[in-house]
Amino acid sequence: MSAHENTTSDAFEWGAEEEQALLDTIDAWVEKSVAPIAMEYDQEDKYPHELVEDMKELGLFGATISQQYGGLGLPAAIYAKIVIRISSVWMAPTGIFNSHLIMASAIERAGTEAQKQHYLPKMASGELRGGIGLTEPNAGTDLQAIRTVAKLEGDHYVVNGAKTWITNSLHGDMVLLLVKTDPNADPRYRGMSMLIAEKGDGFIVAKKMKKSGYRSIDTCELVFENYKVPVERLLGGVEGQGFKQTLGGLELGRINVAARGCGIAEGALHLSVRYAQERKTFGVPICEHQAIQLKLGEMASRVEASKLLIDSAAKAFDKGERCDMEAGMAKYFATETGAYCAEEGMRIFGGYSYSTEYEIERFHRDAMLMCIGEGTNEMQRIIIAKQLVARNAI
Ligand SMILES: Cc1cc2nc3c(=O)[nH]c(=O)nc-3n(C[C@H](O)[C@H](O)[C@H](O)COP(=O)(O)OP(=O)(O)OC[C@H]3O[C@@H](n4cnc5c(N)ncnc54)[C@H](O)[C@@H]3O)c2cc1C
Repeated sequence: MSAHENTTSDAFEWGAEEEQALLDTIDAWVEKSVAPIAMEYDQEDKYPHELVEDMKELGLFGATISQQYGGLGLPAAIYAKIVIRISSVWMAPTGIFNSHLIMASAIERAGTEAQKQHYLPKMASGELRGGIGLTEPNAGTDLQAIRTVAKLEGDHYVVNGAKTWITNSLHGDMVLLLVKTDPNADPRYRGMSMLIAEKGDGFIVAKKMKKSGYRSIDTCELVFENYKVPVERLLGGVEGQGFKQTLGGLELGRINVAARGCGIAEGALHLSVRYAQERKTFGVPICEHQAIQLKLGEMASRVEASKLLIDSAAKAFDKGERCDMEAGMAKYFATETGAYCAEEGMRIFGGYSYSTEYEIERFHRDAMLMCIGEGTNEMQRIIIAKQLVARNAI
């Protein structure tokens, strides 16, 4: 059974009133607690521990986890709106629960019942926080080229290898680790498995990486030297399923990242609309110059189009319909819109866009990551085209 099938079977239905009340609560929290610290924390690359505590209270660590395991069981369509709202002010904190929820969703979708019972309630409350460990120094897009190996020895796996760019790995408690349990398998994906890797002996956080954007959030290099994982933490209890389990989370993952990109776009638009009325040149606010109007009109239209694409992919996902191509389109378009609006915002702010006293430069630094993560936008378009042909084969 898939995670979203679980979600729809929950007793509590999220009606329009409950949705609005939740979104109002998020808006109030963003205004009171996120907006005031965003600039300082980003510039000092400081981890927002206090926001983590707030997120626990708000239930965000269990947002998409089924109610039967203690989560909110939110439909993807509502979850995406939450992510857009937070990202429109500061995208980075959404990574703290996004990556965690991708791990939770994999456990709910592919884990054994014992794994679900053990991990999901603790993940929903935020007591245990996780991330996803796929990328290696030599393998990002081509995940089947990973070299981290897990060898079964008695009742545990012995893991050796390295991961890079792993979000939540310093301040979180565990990572869902993609490994090779059979490095010689042909085809390569048959030798891949996922392990629930809790921190402990041999799990080394080698280095917190310095990033141009998406700062404040811990993204690290990890090294595994004879790191032991008990056999009962093999996701789903069967070897060779790791690649399939990774692909299984892509639809929700793409909707997540699309929402983050859309939030960046909307935030950049808001800042630009305001600044264009404040800044005067040649005796008038710059919003009265046609060149600026063309930018604002284009930005606003792309933001609205992104929201529609996200909503339509998320609603298809919530109904259990096939939406891989739709989620890919939303991810591609909304994240490119994030990058577009942030860049146009920089132009509207003119020279001041380069001042770290203006927030638009943070949106610009954060935007590009969304085009790269969760499948690069080059790959998205290739995948969209392949599915288009497959669905319309002659
Ligand atoms: C801040 C940050 C946080 C991250 N967090 C995580 C995390 O939590 N967990 C995790 O596992 N990973 C994480 N990543 C890694 C991220 O998922 C990868 O960077 C991404 O998948 C791209 O892989 P790569 O960097 O190796 O690029 P490459 O795979 O080397 O790609 C380089 C370029 O080649 C293009 N390309 C590659 N193959 C093809 C092809 N077949 N056809 C056409 N074009 C192709 C790509 O589109 C890209 O433009 C993070 C990255 C960053 C920067």
